[in-house]
Amino acid sequence: MTDERPGFATEQVHGGFMPDTAHGARVPAIHMSSGFLFEDAAQARDRFAGTDDGYTYTRLGNPTNADVERRIALLERGTEAILVGSGQAAATVAFLGLLGAGDHVVSASSIYEGTRGLLLQNLGRLGIAVDFVADARDLDAWAAAVRPETKLFFAETIPNPKNDVLDIAGVAAVAHRAGVPLVVDNTLATPYLVQPVEHGADVVIHSASKFLSGHGAGLGGVVVDGGRFDWTATLQRWPHLTQADRALGGASHTDRYGRGAFIAYARDVVAARVGPTPSPFNAFLLRQGIETLSLRVERHVANALAVATWLEAQPEVTSVDHAGLASSPYHDLARRYLPRGAGSVFAFTLAGGEAAAHALIDAVRLFSRMTHLGDVRSLVLHPASTTHAGRTPEERAAQGIHDGLVRLSVGIEDVADLIGDLERGFGAVRALAGRGTAAGHGREARLGFAPEVAAVTVPAPTGVL
Ligand SMILES: *Cc1c(COP(=O)(O)O)cnc(C)c1O
Repeated sequence: MTDERPGFATEQVHGGFMPDTAHGARVPAIHMSSGFLFEDAAQARDRFAGTDDGYTYTRLGNPTNADVERRIALLERGTEAILVGSGQAAATVAFLGLLGAGDHVVSASSIYEGTRGLLLQNLGRLGIAVDFVADARDLDAWAAAVRPETKLFFAETIPNPKNDVLDIAGVAAVAHRAGVPLVVDNTLATPYLVQPVEHGADVVIHSASKFLSGHGAGLGGVVVDGGRFDWTATLQRWPHLTQADRALGGASHTDRYGRGAFIAYARDVVAARVGPTPSPFNAFLLRQGIETLSLRVERHVANALAVATWLEAQPEVTSVDHAGLASSPYHDLARRYLPRGAGSVFAFTLAGGEAAAHALIDAVRLFSRMTHLGDVRSLVLHPASTTHAGRTPEERAAQGIHDGLVRLSVGIEDVADLIGDLERGFGAVRALAGRGTAAGHGREARLGFAPEVAAVTVPAPTGVL
């Protein structure tokens, strides 16, 4: 062994592995146990005091969850990670670890609707304000939004559905000049496409429900600390990190943990109290997914670029929002930050508006009509009438979410089948416009799909209850 860091694929399979000294299991066990035995009263005391670092209770830590935390921290080039039950829980833990009443956030406007709601509705009610930067490329707009109470910048590396890639280093530099950390959601890129910490981001969060899992069989979330931000640089900006804490024997989190103060606080004070603990079984499922992450994402991005290129050539399409295309205004950012590919979640807009979008969505049979992302299966959704229906038409227009916009999350199937399925969708779009027929090319029949889900009949209960 040399000191050289292994490659990404090696690390996604082996990173953070701790041998099972009891049985030698090659795959770490799933520790489905709410609590852990103390050998004696003295050990119980020491574990509560934190002087013995064994496990006590799964809300505070679990070996299966810790195994996945170590691996994700390595893949994201962070120092430490906290595994939680969903992406929304990850955002909540990260925000509550940094923000208090009276504080202020500057965020890109093109963030996930759930995170936007969390900031506006939940944290807003606790006295936390947020300002949105309409065009995240405008670094002056980020700087202009800063107030004395600003405590963090927030953005997504690849926002959905517009694939408007973030200038991570540019926004991080503005955040650091303002003395605050940049928190990024790296869900759609995954650490295989970009490691935001390497470009200056301070905290990385994920919905692990998406690409990190890939199988779409369970939710998860993670908060990763880059470990570089100096929480003491601006006096009293984070008093909960720098002031004496009785639980630490009168020391502060920064005294005890230095630059690890935020993640220690987020784990011990936020996550342990709020309780968004994932099931160790879901952690196991997530780890199974992570082991093949790079292979899946390679296929996802290749398929997505092929589909985007094909879409761009269709006469019914007015624009394709994929930063891998030379026509994208985000192409330069994608080349800089995402040399392996600009992800596989993107949108295209049909000239025929909502009617055309709905016709296409109703006609496809291989793409799943679903609100989910980063699944091995290809997914399709109409944002204007679903995820972004709560926005006013003006707000949607400002974000480029037109009525004819269709979002795709391109999976790992054979790309010819995906394009064939979209051809069927475009047949329906042309039929709607009075041209051509909606007939598909019958490929799904040969492949033996069950294209339409038959109505599920729930049998009446029988027997004695
Ligand atoms: C899905 C998603 C979330 C929320 O994650 P959940 O696991 O569904 O709670 C947050 N951010 C982004 C970018 C997402 O795609």
